[in-house]
Amino acid sequence: MPGKNLSRDEAQQRASILAVDGYQVRLDVTSAPDRAAGTFRSTTTVTFRCSQPGADTFLDLLAPAVRSVTLNGRALDPATAYDGARVHVDGLAAENVLTVEADCAYSRTGEGLHRFVDPVDGETYLYTHYEPADARRVFANFEQPDLKAPFTFTVTAPAAWDVWSNAPHEKVTAEGDARTWEFAPTKPISTYLTAVVAGPYHVARDHYRRELADGTALEIPLSAMCRKSLAPYFDADEILGVTKLGLDFFHEEFDYPYPFGKYDQAFVPEYNIGAMENPGCVTFREEFVFRSKVTDAAYEGRANVILHEMAHMWFGDLVTMRWWDDLWLKESFADFMGSYGLIGARTRYSSAWITFANQRKAWAYRQDQFPTTHPITADIRDLEDAKLNFDGITYAKGASVLKQLVAYVGSEAFFEGARRYFKRHAFGNTELGDLLEVLEETSGRDLKTWAAAWLQTSGVNALTPQVTTDAEGRITELAVLQDGEVLRPHRIAVGLYDRDAEGALVRTARIELDVTGTRTAVAEAVGLARPALVLLNDDDLTYCKIRFDEESLESLRTGLGDIHGELARALAWSAVWNLTRDGLMPARDYVALVLRFAGQEGNIGVLQSLHAQAKTAVDLYADPAWRGEGGRLLADGALRELRAAVPGSDHQLAWARFLAQTAGGAEHLGLVRGLLSGSARIDGLEVDQELRWSLWLALAASGQATDEELAAELAADNTASGKRHHTECLAARPTAEAKAAAWSAVIDSDELPSALVEANTGGFSIPAQRDLTALYAAPYFKLLERIWAERSIEIAMRIVGGFFPIAQTGEQTLAEADAWLEGHPQAAPALRRLVLERRDDLARALRAQACDRP
Ligand SMILES: [Zn+2]
Repeated sequence: MPGKNLSRDEAQQRASILAVDGYQVRLDVTSAPDRAAGTFRSTTTVTFRCSQPGADTFLDLLAPAVRSVTLNGRALDPATAYDGARVHVDGLAAENVLTVEADCAYSRTGEGLHRFVDPVDGETYLYTHYEPADARRVFANFEQPDLKAPFTFTVTAPAAWDVWSNAPHEKVTAEGDARTWEFAPTKPISTYLTAVVAGPYHVARDHYRRELADGTALEIPLSAMCRKSLAPYFDADEILGVTKLGLDFFHEEFDYPYPFGKYDQAFVPEYNIGAMENPGCVTFREEFVFRSKVTDAAYEGRANVILHEMAHMWFGDLVTMRWWDDLWLKESFADFMGSYGLIGARTRYSSAWITFANQRKAWAYRQDQFPTTHPITADIRDLEDAKLNFDGITYAKGASVLKQLVAYVGSEAFFEGARRYFKRHAFGNTELGDLLEVLEETSGRDLKTWAAAWLQTSGVNALTPQVTTDAEGRITELAVLQDGEVLRPHRIAVGLYDRDAEGALVRTARIELDVTGTRTAVAEAVGLARPALVLLNDDDLTYCKIRFDEESLESLRTGLGDIHGELARALAWSAVWNLTRDGLMPARDYVALVLRFAGQEGNIGVLQSLHAQAKTAVDLYADPAWRGEGGRLLADGALRELRAAVPGSDHQLAWARFLAQTAGGAEHLGLVRGLLSGSARIDGLEVDQELRWSLWLALAASGQATDEELAAELAADNTASGKRHHTECLAARPTAEAKAAAWSAVIDSDELPSALVEANTGGFSIPAQRDLTALYAAPYFKLLERIWAERSIEIAMRIVGGFFPIAQTGEQTLAEADAWLEGHPQAAPALRRLVLERRDDLARALRAQACDRP
């Protein structure tokens, strides 16, 4: 569709002549419960000024039909004005009123106005999701972040429903079977931040009050909602409790009163991402409403997201990037604040920085080593570029670099800079320079060099210690070697660790210093006894890959689990995983470390990462000849630790899930079946609904679950979640027919919501079934361009990523990927980027396998 992929140049041109005074948006969604109804009525009236009277412009709109277009009282013919993506208008006056009346489509892909019918009770639920540019699927608008305006929404919905938007409602009028909700005008915000949530949602309400410095009080009504059928599982008290702690904390740090009146948080079905920071009306994926027991890592993760979205009320919503090049200005900050806030707001999640070091950074390191990596401040030519930049660089590397910046300028200067930034740019749009300006003011440091090294280059440095000792074992020199394409200034701590009387590896010295260039001497270490372990980047101040000297690596092999201190241990785990991914440590050695020490890992989030990584090590990075044995070792280890775990603990649940993921042999599968039927029990382990589905997946993938059994489980759990799990189990059966059905469900039809696309691709792609899926590699490459052209980008991204033949770890698949890339230089850059990244994953697997070959 020409015009669908708005370019930066077009956006700049439009912003240079237009200023928007306001939008009136009327939506009529009374048709939503009627499944046969595909569309709803949408009417936008936008009032705007033009600095070049007589000029042309366009509104963005993706709608099946446009009924009328009226500019300054003049009716335009929709047949000529609307091209399927844009409403073109010419002859602008200095002041304009433009009305567009359209029929917009209910979405099944989570883009625009998503409609969901609950299988439990037949109720219909709606919510919107727009970022970066899907508001145009719901109403006509100038879809770019720097044309901010106040929005006034009016929504007509079934009478039994409630409706929410960014602003509070001012009036509700009943007429027949419908009610019309009129909302107050919003503050000036960007189109992608507007929101509507409508349906018979279950609501919990609360209130936040704060005395302000000027003697007035700030009152913020709070609410949290989810589908009615999830209400029994909805722990709104915990959610609202974290919310209030966060509001306290951000008011203290940011010194700018929450600008958007009320604060609603909606947990919504079939949501494509974690959450979205719509001002006053945040939307979250409803998997954050926990139907079954989850580990504390899941609660921590949810609290992190609550604070991340709340930080956006300031970073992103109050002050917004001008264009998507500076997406990091909000996402890096929010990602940093999610972890910083968990500690600062005094929530019970004290492991936030450990999780950050272990999980967020792993995401960043992975992304930053793709050939497609980019500087944190990116070059975003158009909306498709923007879509793919919600990635590990923009979020996790950006947040890591901000953590380094806090170490570099000090937290006081950093937060004073933030306070000035909000006051100076409230309700405006900014670029990198605006942030550097305030930080230079408050820190007194020149940040241009820092920004050039950290924000405007890509790639990750590796830091390696080099230790020399004298005859008595004293350090004569300790140096930090830096490599990477771009060398950067790093503020780091160096930790020296030795065995204590109990055998723990404890820190005996901590030396903080600036590392620059290829080699930096650690003068303070000279004369100290050579320690068992030299841990660079101790306390995780900078963003780098840590390497070890030979002696330290040997200490890890024999004692990684004995490191005293959760963060130091998490850093060591992260480092050995990077060595494995880089083909510097054989996968079987990494697996041996996990089998030896994971059982004593206290941090539940770290343990769950180890499980995922050990499985990847066996599936992708191990010598294929050793895969079978590696898999058996993992399953044996899982069973051993499951039996040893404290009854009822999070660790027990994590090991039970890991057993389900690794079970292959008769003994393991027998226990899995016994746990499902109740004939086997593990003391303290509750086999609840989510765990049951994990166990069924293990049986299904091994060909030991009948279709009747799976159907019976679905009948017992006839929910959205049950449907997803059931779909995945069917796709995971080890037969040619099951693979063909899963493939066809995704490729031959465009009916599936993204959650079911994922369930199919996930079940289809069980690595151990690589022989069954091998014949799909060739068709995959043939279909890529068609899929990209025909599907929405959310769905297309899932298909391209989910069906990539990553388990076919041979030169043949690599050659096929290369042939496609060479043969399709003109394919959409975003599509090429996805294929390049998966191709790089494959090449990495082959290098790791070579390292693992005895
Ligand atoms: Zn965010």
